[in-house]
Amino acid sequence: MIVERLAVIGAGTMGRGIIEVAATHGVMVRAYDINDDVCAKAAATLRTSIERGIKRGKVSGGSADPYMQRVTFSCDLAETVCDAQFVIEAIPEIQELKLKTIGELDRLAPAGVVLASNTSSLSITKLAAATGRPERVVGMHFFNPVPVMAPVEIVRAEQTSEITMTETLEFGRQLGKEAFAVADVPGFAVNRILMPLINEAVFALQEGVADARTIDSLMKLGCNHPMGPLELADFVGLDVCLWILQVLHRELGDPKFRPCPLLARKVDAKHLGRKTGRGFYEYPRKE
Ligand code: NAD
Repeated sequence: MIVERLAVIGAGTMGRGIIEVAATHGVMVRAYDINDDVCAKAAATLRTSIERGIKRGKVSGGSADPYMQRVTFSCDLAETVCDAQFVIEAIPEIQELKLKTIGELDRLAPAGVVLASNTSSLSITKLAAATGRPERVVGMHFFNPVPVMAPVEIVRAEQTSEITMTETLEFGRQLGKEAFAVADVPGFAVNRILMPLINEAVFALQEGVADARTIDSLMKLGCNHPMGPLELADFVGLDVCLWILQVLHRELGDPKFRPCPLLARKVDAKHLGRKTGRGFYEYPRKE
C-alpha cells in the first residue's frame, strides 16, 4: 500500500521531522498540535528546514513551495485524522497522555487505519490495548533529526498483525528510511543499548574519572563514535534520557539501568542540553 495521506499528531522536534520527511516523499500531511503557538510557528520552521535540505542537495528542486503545499497544520484533531490513511503520534513521552490520545485517535480516525507511536520507550502493547483496533497499532521509532537519520525501528506489539507490520515497514521505506522490525521490549533495540552507555558516561563524570570533554574525546577517538556520549545526551535532551532510563529500570528491574544521580540533578536544574542552552556543555544563543 502506498500512503498518500498521513496525519501527524504533535508538531514538536520529532513531529516536524516526520512531517518534513513525508512531505518531501510525496505524501500529503495534516498535522495537529495542542499548542496554538506551536501550530502557528511550525510552518515557518518546516520551510527553513526544507530550504536547508535543498541547499545541501538532500531535497530535490529549487523551492520549498511544492512541499509546503502538501502540509496543513490544525488545532482540530478530528479534522486532522478524518481522511488519513496512516496516523503517527509524536506527543510527549508521558504514558497517561499517550494512552488518552491513542484512545481519541481510535475514535476519530477511519476504521482500519494504522495508528503508529513514535515513543522511545513506552509499551506499544499497552497503547494497543487502549484501542478497539489493537492489531492495527504499531511502534514507528524515528531518530533525531528525522530528515538526516536513516533508520526507523518498527515495533511489533503483542497484538500487532502481520499485515500491519508489513504495511508499516513498507511505509518506512516509502519515506526513504531503512526500516527494521524489532520486538516490543523497553527501549527497543537502540535505546536499550545507547542509554546505558550514556548513563555510564555520566557516572564516569560524576566519579571524576575525567572531565566531560575528555570522556567525549576518548569515546570518539577510541571507539570511532561520531559524537561523544555526553555531547549526544545534550543533543537528545537530558530529560528524554532520564525518562528512558527510568522506564528501562522500572520495566526490566535490573539495577544496571538505574539513572545516575548527576543526570537527575541536571534535569531538576532544567539544564536539559541543547534545547535549554545548557547541559553537560553550554550552548550560547545565536543572536
Ligand atoms: P517535543 O516536546 O519536542 O514535542 C511534543 C509536541 O507535542 C509539542 O509540540 C507539544 O505541544 C505537543 N503536544 C503535547 N500534548 C499534546 C497532545 N495531547 N496532542 C497533540 N500534541 C501535543 O517532543 P519530541 O522530542 O518531539 O518527542 C515526541 C515523541 O518522540 C516522544 O514520545 C519521544 O520519546 C519520541 N522521540 C524523541 C526523540 C528525540 O530525540 N527527541 C527521538 C525519538 C523519539
